[in-house]
Order: sequence, then structure tokens, then C-alpha cells
Amino acid sequence: MKTIGYAAQSAGDTLAPWEFERRDLRPNDVAMEVLYCGICFTDIHQVQDDWGWGIFPMVPGHEIVGRVTDVGSDVTQFKKGDTVAVGCMVDSCQECDQCHHGEEQFCREGMTLTYAGRDRINGETTQGGYSKHLVCREEFVLRIPEGLDLSRAAPLLCAGITTYSPLRHWNIGPGSQVGVIGLGGLGHMAVKLAVGLGADVTVLSRTEDKEADALDLGADGLLVSSDDAAMESAQSSFDLIIDTIPVKHDLTPYLRLLDINGGLVLVGQIGPIEELDSEPVVMGRRCIVGSAIGGIAETQELIDFCAKKNILPECEIIKIDQVNDALERLKRSDVRYRFVIDMASLAAP
Ligand SMILES: [Zn+2]
Ligand SMILES: [Zn+2]
Repeated sequence: MKTIGYAAQSAGDTLAPWEFERRDLRPNDVAMEVLYCGICFTDIHQVQDDWGWGIFPMVPGHEIVGRVTDVGSDVTQFKKGDTVAVGCMVDSCQECDQCHHGEEQFCREGMTLTYAGRDRINGETTQGGYSKHLVCREEFVLRIPEGLDLSRAAPLLCAGITTYSPLRHWNIGPGSQVGVIGLGGLGHMAVKLAVGLGADVTVLSRTEDKEADALDLGADGLLVSSDDAAMESAQSSFDLIIDTIPVKHDLTPYLRLLDINGGLVLVGQIGPIEELDSEPVVMGRRCIVGSAIGGIAETQELIDFCAKKNILPECEIIKIDQVNDALERLKRSDVRYRFVIDMASLAAP
């Protein structure tokens, strides 16, 4: 099937219209028209080839909401007209221990990324959601329940699940004390989801100026991390801190805020961790862990939870021809809090 997307032809290029082919449907494939696609900071890293494994031409986008246009002969869970979603991965081996217990993102053979990945069957480069159409195997297609605002649902597929998964892993609920560092696309979802799960939520920020935003999102308060006295009096007060800062920073001051058995969860790739004081880790069994998206079943649980609780990202909806400007603005954190592309603004080829 011929389709069109916005692609970078080589590393660092601006995105421009590009016609390409989507594969013919395999028996277990679902074809969809993309309705909305969120813009994630990963898209910037990949287009710039910051991680060195980009494949070009590259159509980014892994927060995808669409409508089913066709299904393969063996598909049982979806039919034409269904509202669906695809996140950061489109395939995995389906046979290893991780796939069997629903953590396909940790597949022993590696998940297949939605873009800048290699199809497991024919080796073709995968292309993402800044495009008119998408084809994905049934097992990696999510269902969007009726009533969820489609224009704001897309960021649940990456920003949402990335913050929901650690909250669930730590059994966060009423009575839990949760801290959130950073108030961007991921951070604002961490606040909303932790509040939705019933936790007491505090935003941690270097300055006071985020306080009104934090309270608007449902947080109970703001802790200013540059205020030594406030940091001292907040020691041992959090069960879980979700750290969304995407660049290298000192973790030790945050470790001291954790209660015994508490966890500091890194959801950004910050590279080498240096100068870490082991004292708060050893004396109190505190831990530093990382987390990456979530499995398919957990992603569906998140979408259903958000529909039930009416929890949605704060989005700025743009047209596809504004995408390069949006990527520049995202680099400056100039968005509250997630860009979503209305793909109706991209005409079919
Ligand atoms: Zn993402
Ligand atoms: Zn696997």
C-alpha cells in the first residue's frame, strides 16, 4: 500500500513529505489510518541520530491513535472501523519468558521498535506514526474505549505507560507518597496518574515557579530542590520518586528523600551515573532502578484506567506542516505538555 509520511532523509534533516510503501497484510496484521500522533523527545534523539542506531529515511512517531481500515484473515480482536492505538513497539518473539509474562518490552530477542527498527520477518525498516497509514501485527494493537478523547489519547502510548508502569510495579495507591522530578511530557503524566491511583503527590523542581502548574495538575505540593532546609525536612518521606529528567544530574539528594525500601525510578536515559553516595542506598535498602515503557497488557490496562478516570494528557494539537517547528519548541521545553499531530492535516497520496 502506498502511503505518505514526514521523514528525515538523513541524520539531522528537517522532516519533509515522503511517499513510501506499507507492507501487504499478513494474516495477523491490522491496517489503520493514523488519526493522531504524539511527539516524544525520543523522536528528536532518533532524527538527530543521537544514539547512533538510527535508520534513514526515518518516519518518527510512536504515540499513535488510528482507525482500522482492514484486517488480515486470522485477526480476531479487531475489525474495520475500530479505534485503536500503537505505541513504541510493533513486535517481539512472543516465545521467551519475558514475552510470556507480558513484558514484551524486555523480550530476550529485543522488541521491534515502531520506527527505526527491523521487521522480524522481512528485515524492512519500520516506519512510525507521522504517516497516513500504519500496519501492525494484531498482538501489538491496543484498543481505545469509547468516550476517550482521541485527540488527547496518543501520548498515553509512551509518556503515559512509561510513568504508569513503575507506579503499578511499586503498588502505588492510597497512602503512598510519590515524588515526581521534572514537569514535562512524562512528568505531568506521572503526576496525573499517581493522583489517579490515590497517592499523595509532590512535584520536585529547582525553582518555585512550577508550583501553580503542579497544583493545577492535581499535585499536593511542590518541593524546591534548591532549598536545603526544605530538602532536609523532606528526608525519608517518599515511597517512590519518578525522575523524568532526560540529562545527567546528581541523584544523591533525591535518594535521601526516599523512605526505607523506597525507589528512585529513572525513566530517562541519562548515561553514566557518577559520584553516587552509597550511604542512603545501603542504610535503608533504597534503590535506583530504571523503567522502560510497559508490556502490551499493562498498556491496555493504562488506557482503560485513563478512560474510566478521565485522565488525559495536556496537549497542544498541531498540523503536520508545523512539525519541524514543534520539534524545535520541544527542545526548549516550550510546550504544555505534549504536542499531538492531527494527521487529518496530511493528505493521502
Ligand atoms: Zn516516546
Ligand atoms: Zn520475547
